[in-house]
Amino acid sequence: MIFTKSVRLQQLPPYLFLELDRMKAEVREKGVDIIDLGIGDPDLPTPEFIVERMIASVKEARYHRYPSSRGMLSFRKAAAEWYKKRFDLSFDPASEVVVLIGSKEGIAHFPIAFVDPGDVVLVTTPGYPVYNIGTLFSGGETYYLPLIAENDFLPDLDSIPADILKRAKILWINYPNNPTAAVAPPEFFARVVDFAKENNIIVCHDNAYSEMTYDEYIAPSFLETPGAKEVGLEFHSLSKTYNMTGWRIGFAVGNPELIGSLAQVKSNIDSGQFEAVQEAGIAALESDQSCIRKMQEIYRERRDILVSGLRDLGLDTPFPKATFYVWTPVPKGYTSKDFSSLLLEKTGIVCTPGNGFGQSGEGYVRMALTVSKERLAEAVERFRQIF
Ligand SMILES: *Cc1c(COP(=O)(O)O)cnc(C)c1O
Repeated sequence: MIFTKSVRLQQLPPYLFLELDRMKAEVREKGVDIIDLGIGDPDLPTPEFIVERMIASVKEARYHRYPSSRGMLSFRKAAAEWYKKRFDLSFDPASEVVVLIGSKEGIAHFPIAFVDPGDVVLVTTPGYPVYNIGTLFSGGETYYLPLIAENDFLPDLDSIPADILKRAKILWINYPNNPTAAVAPPEFFARVVDFAKENNIIVCHDNAYSEMTYDEYIAPSFLETPGAKEVGLEFHSLSKTYNMTGWRIGFAVGNPELIGSLAQVKSNIDSGQFEAVQEAGIAALESDQSCIRKMQEIYRERRDILVSGLRDLGLDTPFPKATFYVWTPVPKGYTSKDFSSLLLEKTGIVCTPGNGFGQSGEGYVRMALTVSKERLAEAVERFRQIF
């Protein structure tokens, strides 16, 4: 037998961290104590009250049956209430909210509803890889919009050629941003709404990091922007907010036609998330949110240790206002890959080369604040040894 992979699978970009994974395994083999700042996965456990709700819910026989693919109405109500409290926005739980098996699932599936071969999807880069992959799986083409420091890591919408605009169906944006940790001012979102209306382009905003913010900064919802609900939807995740990456629970809110189409795709692919997990999600969304404030304080302390340490070494590392990523330019004379390889070999510290998130990430590395402050202080000590 010869198994020929589909063109869609064959055209997926190569996994850029393969080489780094190999080097990491090699260094670990030598017995080096590795400090891994490479992974964007919270290190602290899910809050106890959420776990307790899950334990109680697992025992409920009614949850052992097929869930609905749109998600429990009670979850959708809790999500709508959460948006009301957090952003003062109202959504109809019946038609304007859909539960996702992690937001990645919705992000990957959404283009199936709107993208045909020949269509273009506008994707910011460096960025979360799933925007591109969802596009390719739908047979569409990705047109990349670079995020560079000179533009505050916001895409230049005026730079898009007319023939691309004509074929473009979707624009993906993500603020607070992974990996650059950039945030978007309200004027940018307003510009996006105008752009979407002028060109008849759907806006998908990925708001996975809205609750991971520091100092005085409070992240907005894209849907707060006047007119936003006419053009788009917002993807939300409980993963980073409540340390629930393993649970696979998120949701999307916004324009009912767009939400309905995503729900239609999902009803033909999956049968929704286990309702006990949705119950745990309801506990998280309906809680007093003090667990979020605790996590913000923990990440802020970590951020200050790492960023101050990098700045003391002469790197021009900004203090991120949001996300648990530090996006730092590498020292002069290094590429992203050179620098991350050097760090790994000389110090046992793992970070992610910026170009792994797209060519525009060249010249940067991403460090995740997903180890304790003691370990970050140790990392800073080790940096000193090589500079
Ligand atoms: C982590 C992450 C997600 C995915 O979250 P899940 O809900 O766990 O699937 C989506 N977008 C960005 C930018 C992320 O970093």
